[in-house]
Amino acid sequence: MKIAVINSGSSSLKFKLFDMKTEEVLYSVLVEHIGEINSKIKTHHEALESIDIDFSTLDVIGHRVVHGGEEFYQPTVVNDKVIEKIGALIPLAPLHNPANLEGILVAQKYAPKVPQIAVFDTAFHFHMPKEAYLYALPFEMYEKHKIRRYGFHGTSHSFVMKKAAEILQKNVDELNLITLHLGNGASACAIKNGVSIDTSMGFTPLEGLVMGSRSGDIDPSIVIYMQRELGLSLDEVDKLLNRESGLLGICGDNDVRSIIESDDEKAKLALDMMIRRIQKYIGSYIVLLGRVDAIVFTGGIGENSAYVRDRVLDNSLISGVKNLVIKTDEELEIAKECLNITG
Ligand code: ADP
Repeated sequence: MKIAVINSGSSSLKFKLFDMKTEEVLYSVLVEHIGEINSKIKTHHEALESIDIDFSTLDVIGHRVVHGGEEFYQPTVVNDKVIEKIGALIPLAPLHNPANLEGILVAQKYAPKVPQIAVFDTAFHFHMPKEAYLYALPFEMYEKHKIRRYGFHGTSHSFVMKKAAEILQKNVDELNLITLHLGNGASACAIKNGVSIDTSMGFTPLEGLVMGSRSGDIDPSIVIYMQRELGLSLDEVDKLLNRESGLLGICGDNDVRSIIESDDEKAKLALDMMIRRIQKYIGSYIVLLGRVDAIVFTGGIGENSAYVRDRVLDNSLISGVKNLVIKTDEELEIAKECLNITG
């Protein structure tokens, strides 16, 4: 069984082809900096065209789709209706869902007969309780407009949860974890008996931790103030919060490697802020979970930076909890989900 997975990020594209008998990667492509100034590849379409395989020879094509709204909480076979619904969710994930759709459309063009399956980043958080996913806004904002916490990075949180179960030799449904996906985008998840019961990202992937260039939690009044008093437009505020804030906003750099090595005061401050925010989430999740079997670090920073992990764990409440470092593999998880539903 040959399953290919297309994982389109806002400015990157990962493609992996798996032999599912052995889970071996037969072919992989990584295109980064799509659409950035000085980048040769301007669109996801061009990036997809650079994949040098015959799509029609594949058994299944799996797609990461970032936002599944309240509609999609399971891997879903793509048809015209599904495509339309993923399109309708674009306002909730304007950086991601268009790129995900592009992948689906290109794959359909080259392999109209190969089944395509969408796997949603939001799906793992679908069973969060209402008190976790509702914002304290007028109720009709949820009922009419579906404004609620959805949560993201679900494929990654789910993948490392299953690995942690193997390592700890426990059944997933008896496992309580705090998983920390720390990459350019970053999120924390509280997992109780194998189910996500809370997570730091919300209505969009902007909420929560201090990220590479995203602010994470801020007082929402700041958004009003920036428009009313500083005269910033909606688009300017959007760009400021998503692309110019976080570590980048504080110290002008979003690469944690160079930030750690820098002597600059602001680099030190940016790190302190990022670490403090992670600790705040861990603390609140310890309270929610009661018993925590392990804190799991994953993502580029979580997997590679012992410095960040040590700093996060350097706290009397947190240091007593077992910790694990697990390399995430979103593409393999998506391929496995595809295999589960196609047999
Ligand atoms: P993305 O969310 O774009 O997939 P990644 O999970 O690849 O991001 O993580 C990117 C982040 O990981 C960058 O901030 C990078 O600096 C950081 N990183 C990678 N290797 C290391 C390392 N050895 N030490 C510290 N940070 C690292």
